[in-house]
Formats: sequence, structure tokens, C-alpha cells
Amino acid sequence: MEKQTLISIYATELPENETDDTLYNDIFHEGTETGYRLAIRAAAEQISGFLKHTKKPFSGIKPATLLAEFENISLDTPLPDYKSLYDEVNALYIKHATAFHLPQYIAHLNCPVVIPALAAEVIISAINSSQDTYDQSAGGTFIERRLIDWTGKQIGYNTQCDGVFTGGGSQSNLMGLLLARDYYALAYLNHNIKLQGHPANAHKFRIFVSEKAHFSNQKNASLMGLGEQAIIKVGTDERFRLDAAQLEKAVQEEIEKGNIPIAIVATAGTTDFGNIDPLEDISRIARQHNMWMHVDAAYGCGLLLSDKYRHLINGIELADSVTVDYHKSFFQPISSSAFLVRNKLHLNIIKHHADYLNPKEQDYDELPAQINKSITQSTRRFDALKLWFTLRLMGKQKLGRYTDTIIETTEQAACLIDNSHHFELLSHSDLGVLVFRYIPQHTGGIDICAMNLHIKQTMFFNGEVLVASTRVNGQFYLKFTILNPLTTIQHIQHILTIIKKHGKDFEQRSHATANS
Ligand SMILES: *Cc1c(COP(=O)(O)O)cnc(C)c1O
Repeated sequence: MEKQTLISIYATELPENETDDTLYNDIFHEGTETGYRLAIRAAAEQISGFLKHTKKPFSGIKPATLLAEFENISLDTPLPDYKSLYDEVNALYIKHATAFHLPQYIAHLNCPVVIPALAAEVIISAINSSQDTYDQSAGGTFIERRLIDWTGKQIGYNTQCDGVFTGGGSQSNLMGLLLARDYYALAYLNHNIKLQGHPANAHKFRIFVSEKAHFSNQKNASLMGLGEQAIIKVGTDERFRLDAAQLEKAVQEEIEKGNIPIAIVATAGTTDFGNIDPLEDISRIARQHNMWMHVDAAYGCGLLLSDKYRHLINGIELADSVTVDYHKSFFQPISSSAFLVRNKLHLNIIKHHADYLNPKEQDYDELPAQINKSITQSTRRFDALKLWFTLRLMGKQKLGRYTDTIIETTEQAACLIDNSHHFELLSHSDLGVLVFRYIPQHTGGIDICAMNLHIKQTMFFNGEVLVASTRVNGQFYLKFTILNPLTTIQHIQHILTIIKKHGKDFEQRSHATANS
């Protein structure tokens, strides 16, 4: 067959009303600069609308109502223009999105974000560097490295430290436990888990965490093939911090049972109480027993920004590895997190040579490759640029003042709650979390857990105030997580008034039913 005929058989014909111009006008390239600018400007306008029109942290929409909006949408029929697209996305998402920037949102660990980081997002997604190798990121690699070094310095590490940006705290914690396990096997059992898999006695490995540590530790242990049985939960003190004496006892008990303690995860800022485990005591116990110490500072890392409260996290520098979540406490958009190690040589444990990505003949230092430091991602977003924009434009001090304000508002709120006979507060907080419940005036016949659940749900579906909840010793409690420096004590006072009102309504209805 003639060459020409072959080509025409395989060539894709353009549909009749489509020219080359419209076929490629959605690809980001030099010919579409105007279209790109208009699209981004229109997106920014949607966000202006979101800021202007969102008065409550949540619209209160029920899942069934929202789901019904999706019914007539066919993903196989594209919309004619951006206008139709924005109308659709508004109805499906933006209108009902949870607004973390409003002071009445005090539910989970979601911070308001800073504008420089949002500007960086525009650049990150358009240029779309990938952080795995130098030839896909160039300056991106060095920006990430400088930020890791900077974070290490805030922790109190020396220049031997290293690390990598990750997708989140759960992933960073996984790196901590994985290094802990593999290091233990290499150093004390002369066994290379990366190459050989688990040694025969791996089922005896034990990792100690507090009862209030993040659940990602269990998930990670099971993911690593050690099973959740490897996690030993240690009791806590009156502020729900790991109790060092109980830790010492638990380690002894496991040794007596013939098990092998390999690591301790200390939490610097518990998700439920915002308190810091006793890092120096834990470090001493870890060292005594040749255990790896990982500090989960996913939440508490914000203290690294504060001159005034930095001391609360003293001892973090003693850890072998640390998790920090910039998207929890550095006012960064999701995702932005990092894993750091005190001794960069420990990262060699996970280093893997994929010859096509980082051929052996290329000198590691000549063509730096961050992929050697990442365990769960190859292609990796340039999230580091957001933190770079933030630090370069705002500086650490300004962010630190946000942290100070949050801590001080929380302490005032704690005193308000503690001093009111309407409430029971479980603990003060080093950071911004308060766990408490509404107590009825006449407790007879009232289910206090049901009452507080009612309060939470009523507020959620009114959309006026979003708070979280947790269970402590089987009891249901409300939880404030204050991460917004714009949330003032007046806001908190108002929220407590609303809680009291819903509580009293519930109380009256319960008594009415009981008496009828
Ligand atoms: C949120 C949190 C994590 C998990 O971080 P993600 O970024 O959500 O994966 C881990 N540890 C603590 C203490 C946390 O509060």
C-alpha cells in the first residue's frame, strides 16, 4: 500500500464543525495565553463570590438533596462554555462547601489559608513541575530542599537533617514507622527488610503510642505488615498526654513477654486535646531501649513559628524523625506536609534505584533527585512553592503571631467554659482544642450524650456554627478546634450561647415528653 493511503486510514478526521483551532484551544500553550487568563480570572471571580455570599460555615444541605442535583448530569455530554460550567459547579459544590475561613467554623483541623499560598497554587498547577527528579523540577528541587532545611532548623536539628514534602501527616507518619522498623532490623538484627522482607521475629516488633495518638499509626502498622497488634497504647495523664511512667512500665512488660520494642511515637499536639506529650522523658526512654523516636507534630508544628510558645514543643529536636503538617498549622492550602529525619543517612534505607529515573552513573549530587527520599510518591506536586511564597512575603513572625492569638483565644475560651456551671470541660489545651459538654440544669431522666449530639447536629444543619465531637470513656463530648486567628472570644461567647439555647430546648422537650 502507498504510504500516503496508510496515513489517511489512520488519521483521525475532525468532526465537521471543529477546526484545528477549537480542537487544541484547551491545551495550555503559547497559543492559548488569552484563554488561560480569562479562565483563571473567571475562577477567581467565583471565589470572590464565595467570599462575598458565604455568611455561614455551611449551607446545612442534606446529603440526599445534594445528591439529587447530580441526577441529570451526564459526564459524556460536555457543557458549552465556562459560564455553564461555573453555574453547575456552584450548585454542586461551591454553594455548599464548608467555609473554613469563617470564625464560626471551629470543627476540625482545617486552618484558614493565606493569600500568598493561593497565588503560588496558580503557578504550581500551570507549570506543573514534578518533584521526583531534577530534570522535571530544577529550581523546584532546591526550593523544597531549602524549606526542609529551614524546617529542620526550627525543630533544632543540625545540618545533618533531611526530609521531603509529603501529601499529609498520615503519610509522613508512615515514613517514620517504616524507617524505624527497617533501621531497627538493619542495626540490631543485621537484616535488610527492604530486600529480604520481614525477619521471622517481626511479629514481635512493638511500637508505643499514647491512647490519644492519631489513628494513622494503627493503619500504618497494618499497612507495613506488622498488624495493629504491634501498636501498644499507653495511658495518659490528666491532660491526656502520654504518661512517661506508664510508658516505661509498658516497655518493660513487652520485653518480659519476649516482644521487641522498636519505636515510640510521641504526639506533639493531640488531635483531640491539642496537648504535647512529654518529649524529653520519652526521648530518654527511647534511648535506653534503642528505640526510634518519632514525633508526630502534624498539628503542634505551629509552635515552631511562635517565639512566645516555642518552649512548649522543646524536646522535639531529640526525635529521630518528625511529621509536620503545614496544612494544619502553617495556614497552607491542602496538601502541604513534610517528613524530617535528624540524620540524613537514615533516608538511604528507603532509597531505591529505578535506573530510568536516576541512573547510577549520574552523580547524586550533580543531579539531585528528591525521589530517593519519597516512599509513596514518584510524580509529586510542587507544594513547597506555597510555603516559599508564604515565608518570603509574610515571614515567620507574622504567622507566629497568628499562632499566639489562637493559643490565647483558646485559653480564654477554656476559662469561660470551665467557669460556667452549664458546661463540663475535660482539659485545657497547649494549642487550640477544647473538649467539653453541655450539662443540663436538672439531670434527672436526661441522656446527656444524646443531648450534646442533638446540639451538634442542630447547629450543623442550621449551618450557623460547626463544631466537632469526640468520645472520651464512652461519653459524647463537643469539641472546638480553634485554628483561625480571626475567631475571637466574642465569637466563642456567642457560640456558647447558641449551644446553651439548643441544650435548653432539648431539656424542655425531654421534660415535656416525660410528663405527658
Ligand atoms: C491530622 C493529623 C494527622 C494526619 O495528618 P493528615 O495530613 O490528615 O494525613 C496525624 N497526626 C495528628 C496528630 C493529626 O492531628
